[in-house]
Amino acid sequence: MNRIVVDFDRCEGHGLCEQTAPEVFRLDDEGELHLAHEEVAPKDERAVAAAVRVCPVAALKVRP
Ligand code: SF4
Repeated sequence: MNRIVVDFDRCEGHGLCEQTAPEVFRLDDEGELHLAHEEVAPKDERAVAAAVRVCPVAALKVRP
């Protein structure tokens, strides 16, 4: 199963990933990003790929 890799040095808490795939990405009250799970379930693949594309600072990747 593919995994989500977050570059936390790049992440600026814009939250676009959360808007795109809220079942996977969540920002806390301090704007810090949390993943519901690192592994990308088949049902989440499209939403996660979209979140990777919309991140304005390219902080997200999906790796095998
Ligand atoms: S869209 Fe990118 S910068 Fe914004 S919270 Fe998600 S990973 Fe961080």
